[in-house]
Amino acid sequence: MFGACPLDCPDACSWVVTVRDGKAVDLRGTHEHPYTRGALCVKVNRYLEHAAAPDRLLYPLRRVGRKGEATFARVSWDEALAEIAERLTSVIRRYGGEAIWPYQGTGSFGYIQGVRGWAGRRLWNVLGASHHDPDTICAAAGAAGLTYTLGTSAGIDPENFAASMLILLWGTNTLTSGHHLWKFIQAARGDGAHVVAIDPVRTRTADQADEHLAPIPGTDAALALGLLHVVVSLGGEDRDYLERHTLGWEAFRRRIGQFPPGRAAAITGIGEQQITALGERLARTRPTGIRATMGLQRHAGGGMALRVLACIPGVTGDWQHPGGGLACSTSGHFGLNDAALWRDDLLPHPVRTLSMTRLGEGLLETGDPPVMALVIYGSNPLASVPHQSKIRAGLAREDLLTVVIEHFPTDTVAYADIVLPATMATEHLDLTSSYGHMYLAWNEPAVSPPGECLPASETFRRLARRLGRAEPCLYDSDEDIARQLLDSGHPSLAGVTLDKLRSQGWIRLNYPRPFLPFANGFPTPSGKLEFYSERAAADGLDTLPGYTPAKEVTDATWPAATRWHWWRRRHTTSSTPPSLTTPRSGSGKGLPALRSIPTTPADGSCAPDSASGCSTTAGHSPPWSRSVTG
Ligand code: SF4
Repeated sequence: MFGACPLDCPDACSWVVTVRDGKAVDLRGTHEHPYTRGALCVKVNRYLEHAAAPDRLLYPLRRVGRKGEATFARVSWDEALAEIAERLTSVIRRYGGEAIWPYQGTGSFGYIQGVRGWAGRRLWNVLGASHHDPDTICAAAGAAGLTYTLGTSAGIDPENFAASMLILLWGTNTLTSGHHLWKFIQAARGDGAHVVAIDPVRTRTADQADEHLAPIPGTDAALALGLLHVVVSLGGEDRDYLERHTLGWEAFRRRIGQFPPGRAAAITGIGEQQITALGERLARTRPTGIRATMGLQRHAGGGMALRVLACIPGVTGDWQHPGGGLACSTSGHFGLNDAALWRDDLLPHPVRTLSMTRLGEGLLETGDPPVMALVIYGSNPLASVPHQSKIRAGLAREDLLTVVIEHFPTDTVAYADIVLPATMATEHLDLTSSYGHMYLAWNEPAVSPPGECLPASETFRRLARRLGRAEPCLYDSDEDIARQLLDSGHPSLAGVTLDKLRSQGWIRLNYPRPFLPFANGFPTPSGKLEFYSERAAADGLDTLPGYTPAKEVTDATWPAATRWHWWRRRHTTSSTPPSLTTPRSGSGKGLPALRSIPTTPADGSCAPDSASGCSTTAGHSPPWSRSVTG
């Protein structure tokens, strides 16, 4: 039975489940899938064991103790949904629909059950609930920066890296967080490519690269401008490409001129000679491919950093070469019919958007209306969202209805009024895209759900019925929704049908190989790569890409211990979901087999296939252990 990994990971693996006597007995990566090639990862190889873990939530629960005590009594689905419907109706009557916050995380990335399709959004729209922005915690800053430059956050097909001659792995620990890309990098290496890891942390990937540059966290844009200074000094820019496909080159060239290698060295903490040497390599090596993901965008200048990085292939002309360009995300290449899925036309009026990273403030400080009902699914914010003490105080509010749809008893579940048990990927139907490759994948339910677990889609259908809603689309089946998604008329889906997807398990988007999205222009207002951006100016930002210091870390007055702590905690690029590898609650629950794998081996290095997605810094010197003058 074909399925797809539901986790928030760029590799979006296709898998095959073997079922015997109604039980899933084996799960492996799909051999024929060109990106998965038969391999999952250490986290998901044991997904069946995870799904069968003894602490799985199997029945609806109602709180019987104080909030946070995690004391519950089993109730029926009818009782649970009746209570939720009654409380939501009361909230809407008194405060309006926007007092409801549907708080969805990335626990499942599917289009029908997960955050890709914003499961439940049709119902929330009908109720006029607040919208929820799940991207603020992850990639919103980088996406904004890339879009100023490119008109989209989508970049090159990562498979193109096989043709690169210089590869910059920038703020990404590929071997741990997206290891399927490595085979394409190795293929390029076989043809003589030089691989550079740019990461404050000496990760496994940095160990395997030909060269490692360790900038002070948050200084990546300065490094990029310093490299471009060397390129321009050597006449390495592609003048023909600049003339035909870019806007604002002269102004940006002057900005680059402000970052000679000496200044870039002072800011980044990297040696001037190393910057000059890499700049020279960049100037003379075509094609150069850049892989940049989440690691370098989580600070005040993170969006600007991605905006600058996207300019590098504009200066060198690499966007026009197979193997050249930048790959951050491929999401924007999937032309699925989001509008038909979301049905925002059902909104009774425009509604506010609440940010995932501001849950604590949202629960304690937001008014007009205050948040009075919180429905959390695919997320354990008490373990993964900033401002834990505020969130805890907010969840403890006696006047707040908290519903948590979950697989396991997490820290957040302990604060729920009602807990609803959810199916896992082997138990429900779904369709997945990817932000790291160009394939759609089908997820067929392989086994029956355990206990009384329900797919999120079915939970929302039943809740709609309890709320007495008559809109027919609220009752579309999962297959109906999948068909609507594929029926977009977008060229990327030409020839893609549900039957074909289901029988093959996966399908590559209808793009040529190699896929060069910007060889002939960009989806910006000017149709060009915009060094100069009027949209950025309209948003109150610099019209030109530049270096925005990361206020969070580069202040030299910070005590060294604080910087070390930040460095270790914040510059891990793993996508490993906490619920798979770490205790799911303070009581030490979690998948036993994975918990037993040490995250930091005695020798201080990262364990191969470490269950933690470890990118520990132990055994290496932080960049500021040497003299930094910038
Ligand atoms: S977490 Fe990533 S690498 Fe692991 S199976 Fe899922 S998609 Fe593949």
